[in-house]
Amino acid sequence: MSRPQMENVLPKSDSAGKTRPKVLVVGELNVDLIAVGLSNPPALGSEVLAKDFELTLGSASAIFACGLSQLGFPVTFISKVGADYFGQFCVQALRDQGVCTDNVICDSSVKTGVTIAVSTRGDRALVTYPGAIAQLRYEELPRSFLENHRHIHMTSYFIQEGLRKSFVRILSEAKQNGLTTSFDPNSDPARTWDEEIREVFAHTDVLFLNEPEAMQLTRQKDVDQALKRLGQTAPCAVVKLGPRGAAAIQGEEISSMPGFKVEAVDTTGAGDCFAAGFISGYLEGMTVRQCLELGNACGALSTLRPGGTASQPDHAAIRKLLKLKAVQK
Ligand code: ADP
Repeated sequence: MSRPQMENVLPKSDSAGKTRPKVLVVGELNVDLIAVGLSNPPALGSEVLAKDFELTLGSASAIFACGLSQLGFPVTFISKVGADYFGQFCVQALRDQGVCTDNVICDSSVKTGVTIAVSTRGDRALVTYPGAIAQLRYEELPRSFLENHRHIHMTSYFIQEGLRKSFVRILSEAKQNGLTTSFDPNSDPARTWDEEIREVFAHTDVLFLNEPEAMQLTRQKDVDQALKRLGQTAPCAVVKLGPRGAAAIQGEEISSMPGFKVEAVDTTGAGDCFAAGFISGYLEGMTVRQCLELGNACGALSTLRPGGTASQPDHAAIRKLLKLKAVQK
């Protein structure tokens, strides 16, 4: 399949005075403690040694926010952390990436969320302590929080217990205020995808799911059938297909783009980096195929280093990847 011509549509610079549309992310924050290179999976009552360790900014919302900021979009982040070291770490990491954190609430009555990830060569296990993630409530959002923004992205529906019931309200208010909306629910631990989440879809312009989630939600067996179902739910629905790339439906039209071949080291946050790339194209008025190409490039490049934010590309890095692929063809 031919790749879309991107050379003339990609912005020439990432620092174009941040004149791009302002994006709002209301979501969760946590640190990731990542131990890699374990010889055996850990078992209760035993100790295993790790080859390397990273403390990084975690959380789908934050990885998406940093990804878009890298692409030159002004991003505002609303969230809650504890008054502790991990909370300060998250806020500083967002600021370092140019994300506005003025509305991140620091609450001394809760602890900042933590995900502990341990990975062997073949697989990984995660332990998450949600802490402050479950505590953010609609009533705590600043007045007029939607003002001056063009787009809102929300994710991690199932773990944000305090905010979950307000997703519909936030996204419908956003639409009433003229914002476009995107939503990536992430996996449903109960795998039931109850009716309530479908109400959130009704206020979503761009819906993101990965392949297993799309199959579970639609109860279909192949991606095209799943996309047809999802097309009845949102104006644009995207299914992320790991190294195989991604596919989308807009109206009745299905498009798909192959992924980029890279030496992936860690795929943590690849889906959120993909979403940042896709939405950057969407907000610049690109076609769905161009948005998919940008998403795939951002997703692939993000896998080159451990953690979700360590290798998020700017436009120069994307251009380099596209040139390399063009030469290899
Ligand atoms: P999620 O992280 O949400 O489960 P995926 O695993 O499908 O979603 O990854 C999101 C996107 O990242 C993919 O659509 C693809 O563009 C890119 N990606 C993920 N893994 C790889 C990989 N191993 N090689 C190249 N691209 C990848």
